[in-house]
Order: sequence, then structure tokens, then C-alpha cells
Amino acid sequence: MTASISRVIIAGGGTAGWMAAISLARFKTESPLQITLVESSQIGTVGVGEATIPGIVHFNRKAGLNELDFIKATQASFKLGIQFENWYQHDSKFFHPFADFGMPVDGVAFHHYLNRLASTGVPVNYENYSFACILAQQNKFAQPNPQPQSPLADYSYAYHFDASLYAAYLKQQATAAGVQHIDAEIAHVMLKPDNGFIESLVLKDGTVLEGDLFIDCSGFRSLLLGQALGVGYQSWQHWLLCDGAFAVQTTRSGEILPYTRSIAMDAGWQWRIPLQHRMGNGHIFSSAFCTDEQARQTLLDTVEGEVLTEPRKLSFTPGRRDKIWHKNCFALGLASGFLEPLESTSISLVQTALAKLEAFFPSQGFAECDITEVNRLHNLELEQIRDFLILHYKLTGRRDTEFWRHCADMTIPDSLAHKIELYRHRGHVALYDQESFKHSSWLAMYNGFRVLPQQFDAKAAVVPLDLLQQKLSQMRESMETAAMQADSHQTFINRHCPAQTDG
Ligand SMILES: Cc1cc2nc3c(=O)[nH]c(=O)nc-3n(C[C@H](O)[C@H](O)[C@H](O)COP(=O)(O)OP(=O)(O)OC[C@H]3O[C@@H](n4cnc5c(N)ncnc54)[C@H](O)[C@@H]3O)c2cc1C
Repeated sequence: MTASISRVIIAGGGTAGWMAAISLARFKTESPLQITLVESSQIGTVGVGEATIPGIVHFNRKAGLNELDFIKATQASFKLGIQFENWYQHDSKFFHPFADFGMPVDGVAFHHYLNRLASTGVPVNYENYSFACILAQQNKFAQPNPQPQSPLADYSYAYHFDASLYAAYLKQQATAAGVQHIDAEIAHVMLKPDNGFIESLVLKDGTVLEGDLFIDCSGFRSLLLGQALGVGYQSWQHWLLCDGAFAVQTTRSGEILPYTRSIAMDAGWQWRIPLQHRMGNGHIFSSAFCTDEQARQTLLDTVEGEVLTEPRKLSFTPGRRDKIWHKNCFALGLASGFLEPLESTSISLVQTALAKLEAFFPSQGFAECDITEVNRLHNLELEQIRDFLILHYKLTGRRDTEFWRHCADMTIPDSLAHKIELYRHRGHVALYDQESFKHSSWLAMYNGFRVLPQQFDAKAAVVPLDLLQQKLSQMRESMETAAMQADSHQTFINRHCPAQTDG
């Protein structure tokens, strides 16, 4: 144990750094924290990371951000989920909503009734029983109805936002809350000779920043945790083949969609993220199956709208640091690892890692048991996400390119193989501790990739088939009617939260 912790130094001012700054500024400890964030505007930030999952709504709320102000300041739009196109086969699409498909009936999960119907040969699509999917199909948006026990209440939403504007907005809030901001380059990380803890950061102009706790938000460089403390990196590239991306901004053509589009390509996939003032686009690809020039050109050939920026190349190794917390250094964001943005999990991982830091905050010094537990929980969480991402590739029905054939044939982690087998066998969705993606997310994938289990819960057979069909069509009709009454996404934004336009 060491003395109490009061000086926190955050290295890096991207999304991760400013999320850490605002969270810790609002975090109440016995003695107030003195927080300093140092970043180099010369180096800049990664500047992508524009699609999120629903936890961001809670993060912003906890950080004291006003939702309307935030949306206006970041040109944000609402996100009901992700539309996956060409993943199962060319010209196929399915939707992964932030929502359940129906509700349990007599203690039996709803999808078993659907699977029972499907087993009779009737075509069944889970999406017809999710209000969020129906809203998305109709390009509508409504905020969830807080009434419990209503299918109209049973969904969540997230945002798409401009990453640079979000970091700037958080910076404004965090500095107003007392965080000290320094724009300078970190030249050296000094370690204590006796225990190897970080003692200080030395800036290029010679300024020395001493601290008790150091938060590494320095991006892919991982200046503190990786470089100074030598914490290793575990690559998962044998399962997640994509290791490069080109990102480009375009004007928006057509109405603003309430979802992210993920479009499978020959050796990876593209994202399309609708913001109020523009689109964010990118092509994630595997360098083993596609050259940089092919990836860049494919992106430029397929984006809609006018290209506003030069395509930017980003390279990465999918995987994670062996631990996120080592000695007095805690890493967040890209400094701690990276999984491709297929399910928009990176910003959410910053949030959940911060929650762990707060839960195990070393107010009275660093205890090895706290550090071990946080690392265990984080690694487990990341492995579950990894498995969920691999699922997208493994279940593909595509065999038209070498990349997709490789994905379909690859050996997957045992943990994932077990889950798929259980679902194929009896429609059971196995979930473990620390799962970010719950029941409905797995079902969205199985539905989208046309996995029909051999069996369903025997209790679902108790309802007569004609009654089941009648109830299902009533449910579907009531959702469609309710969706028709909702505003279009664009109208909703115009009415409640239009962002300021330039000039
Ligand atoms: C292609 C791609 C697409 C992505 N899409 C999504 C998405 O849709 N959704 C999602 O949740 N996430 C996404 N992410 C991840 C997301 O962008 C990051 O998790 C998020 O932006 C956090 O980045 P960061 O703050 O860790 O790093 P960065 O933005 O790289 O910030 C690093 C900071 O460290 C500073 N720094 C570095 N070295 C020094 C030094 N020597 N001295 C001083 N300062 C220094 C930099 O100036 C900068 O301020 C994506 C990532 C990539 C690569």
C-alpha cells in the first residue's frame, strides 16, 4: 500500500482522454482529485469513432451532459441499431436492434415460439417482432415509451456523433469542472527506481508532471502502459483478419437514417454513419486479401455523396494489452487494445473500464488484489466481445471470395463454438458473466445468418399453432401501426435537436 491518491495525470486528449477527464472530475472521493490532462495538438487524435451503443446515453447522463446540448454540439443523430448488408449473402440484409424480439410468454423466451412456427415451414423473421426494427425499416424515430411491459418500451437507442466535436464538447465540460489542460508533447515517462511505478511525465519543454495515478489515453502508441511499462499485446488477428481501414467524410445524400449501415465487401466491410451535417464512411479490410490501393479505391467508388476529405489510412492489430491496469497506470481506449468497429464497442469499452476504475478506485493506495480483479473483469468482457465479432464472420453464407471462404472455414475459439452448437441444437442462447451483448443481440445474428435450431423449448408447443399465428400477426400489426404514427428521424431531429449550421 502507498499513500492516498490525489494527483491524476491523463496522457492523451482523444475521446478516451476526455471521457476519463469528465468522469473523474465528477467522481467524488474523500479528498478531491487534482486532474491534469496533457495532449499534443501537433500529434492530434485518431478522429474516427462515431457510432456508439446505448451505454453512451447513461455515460453522458452520469457526466452531467444535457442530451439536447450534446446532440446539437456534436451534430449527432439517433441510432436504433445496425443494418448488416451482404453479410449472409450478396443482396441479403438484417438488422441488429438495441432491443428484444418480443417478450417471454409463460416463462418461455419469445424466440422459441418463432422457432416453433419456423419449424413448420412458415418463413419467420424475428425483426417483425421488434418495434425498433420496424421503426428503422420505416426510417422513423421515437424515444422509448417508459411504460413497462409494452413492446414499444422495450428498446434503447444510441447516437452517431462527430468524434472531434464530441472530444471538444467533453473538453469544454471537463475544464469547466476543474480539469487542468496542457497542450504539449510528452517526451519521456520517468519510472521510480525502487518499484517501477510511473513517477512523472517529462514534456518536450522540460516541464515535469508528477502524479499518483496515470491514465494512459495516448492512442495506439500506448506511451505509458505499452512503451514505458512494457505490458505486452495479445493479437487476435487469426480470428479477426481485418487490420486496416480507410476513412473518408462525404456529404449526406437522402434522408438521415436512424441506424449505422455495415456493408460486407470482398475482403472486409464498410461503415456508413449518418450525422446531421455529413456522413462518416470507412472501409475496414484485411491486408492479407486486399492491397491498400484496392481498399482505398473501393471506398471511393462506392460511397454516396460528395467526398469532403482525403481518405485516411489507419492500421491496427486486433487484440488487447495483457492487462489494462499495471502498477499506477490504467489504460483506456486505443492504448489498451482495439477490436474493429463492427459493433461500435470501443467507446463503450472506455466507459465500462472507467466504471471499473471507479469501483476499485485506489483512494488509499494500490492493492494487487484490486488490480488483478479489474484486469480479470476487463479481459473477460473483451473476450466475450471478440467472440461476438467473430460470429459475424464465421456464420457467413458467402463463399465468393478467398476472404469469406477463409472466414467460414476458420477455427474459432471453443467458447464461441460451444455457444453456436447450443443454439443450433436447441435454440438456447448461452450468456456468461461480463457479456456486453445480451440475448437479443445473439438472436439478431442467428436470425440474420439463417440459423434455425433443430429443436425449440418444448413448452412453446403447448400453444395451438393457429392461436400462435393469430397472436403473432396481431402483435406485428400493432407495432406497424404504432411505428406509422412516429415521426421520421429527420422530422424528430428538426423538431427537437437540430444542430447549428455553419455561418
Ligand atoms: C478505423 C476506426 C474506426 C472506429 N470506429 C469506431 C466506432 O464507430 N465506434 C467506436 O466506439 N469506436 C470506434 N473506433 C475507436 C475509437 O476511435 C477510439 O476508441 C476512440 O476514438 C478513442 O481513441 P483514443 O482517445 O484512445 O485515441 P486517440 O484519439 O488516438 O487519442 C490519443 C491522444 O494521445 C495524444 N498523444 C499521443 N502521443 C502523445 C505524446 N507523445 N504527447 C502528448 N500527447 C500524445 C494525442 O495527441 C491524442 O490526444 C474506431 C477506431 C478506428 C481505428
